[in-house]
Amino acid sequence: MRIDLHTHSTASDGTDTPAELVRAAAAAGLDVLALTDHDTTGGWAEAVEALPRGLTLLRGAELSCVSLPDPPGTGLPDRPGAGLSDRPGAGPPDRPRADLPDRPRAGLLDRPGAGLSEPRGASARPVTLHLLAYLFDPGDPAFVAERRRLRESRLDRGRRIVELLAADGYPVDWPEVRELAAGGAVGRPHIARALVRAGVVSTVDEAFGRLLRTGSPYYVPKADIEVLAAIRMVRAAGGVPVFAHPLARRRDRVVSDEVIRAMAAAGLAGLEADHPDQDPADREHLRGLATELGLFVTGSSDYHGTNKVVRLGQETTSVAACERLVEQATGLALITG
Ligand SMILES: [Zn+2]
Repeated sequence: MRIDLHTHSTASDGTDTPAELVRAAAAAGLDVLALTDHDTTGGWAEAVEALPRGLTLLRGAELSCVSLPDPPGTGLPDRPGAGLSDRPGAGPPDRPRADLPDRPRAGLLDRPGAGLSEPRGASARPVTLHLLAYLFDPGDPAFVAERRRLRESRLDRGRRIVELLAADGYPVDWPEVRELAAGGAVGRPHIARALVRAGVVSTVDEAFGRLLRTGSPYYVPKADIEVLAAIRMVRAAGGVPVFAHPLARRRDRVVSDEVIRAMAAAGLAGLEADHPDQDPADREHLRGLATELGLFVTGSSDYHGTNKVVRLGQETTSVAACERLVEQATGLALITG
C-alpha cells in the first residue's frame, strides 16, 4: 500500500491539472493520494470526477500560517483571544509616511501586546509555516469566514503596496494594477507588471528584486492566519491538522520545539517527518517529538509537477499513520475511484 499525503495541482502552484494528477498518481502505483493545494479547495471536484479505479483520494489543503512572536510577559502554549476575530488585517491604510522605516511587518505586529516597541531581531519576526488540513468540511462557517478575510486582506495588501509606491513618485495606480489582474486575485506579480509597463524596471524579476521583495520599504506582509487558531479552525471543521515539513530549513526559518508542543496542545494531529526538504537528522528529531507528543508522522512528496524535481510517491506514509489520520476525521469521508 503506497500513500502520498501532500501534492499540488494547477489549482495552486502545481503543473498537473487535478485530473492529470490523479491519473499520474495511479500510474505511479499509489493507492492513496491527498490533494493539498495552497489555501484552496478549488481542485477537489475535478480530482474526484477523474479519480481512477482503485485510487483513494483524501481531500485536503495546505494552509499558509504564521507563528507570531510571543508577546512579552505571556507564555506558550496558549494565547486566549488569538482567534479569528482579532486578526490584524492589513493595518491602517493611511499610516503616515513618517512611519515608513518601521512599516515592514506592521500588519502582523499591529496586534495588542506585539507593538513596534518589540525587539526587532529575527526571533521577533513571525515565522511562516504550512499546515496540512485533511478531510475538513469546507462549508464550515469559520472556514468560509477565514477564506473571505484572506481574499479581502490580499486585495488590501495590493492596494497598500501601490499606494506606498505612488506616494514615492512611482507611476503606478490601483485601477491599472487591478486591470492587469483581469478580475483575479491581485498579487505582487501584477504590480511588477505595472512597473515594467511604466518603464520603472525592465523585467518582473527586477521589480521584485528592487522594490517588491520582502524587507523592501514597499513590502506589506500577508495577513496569514495564526497557526494555533488555524489548528483549532481545522479541528472545528472536523478536519485533521498535520504540520507540513516542520524543519525544512532550506526554505525559511523554522519554529522551535516549544512552538510544536504548543501546536500539539492546540490539537495538532501529526508531523510530516519524511519530506524531501528535511535531512535524516531532522526526520529523526521529528519522530522523537511525535512520540513524546502522541502525534503520528507522515511522509509525502510535496509533488508540484514539473515545478519541482520530486516524484509522486517519492516519500510515503505508513498504513498505520494514515489510519490514525482517517479515524480522527469527521468533516469528510475518503473517496475511492
Ligand atoms: Zn506543499
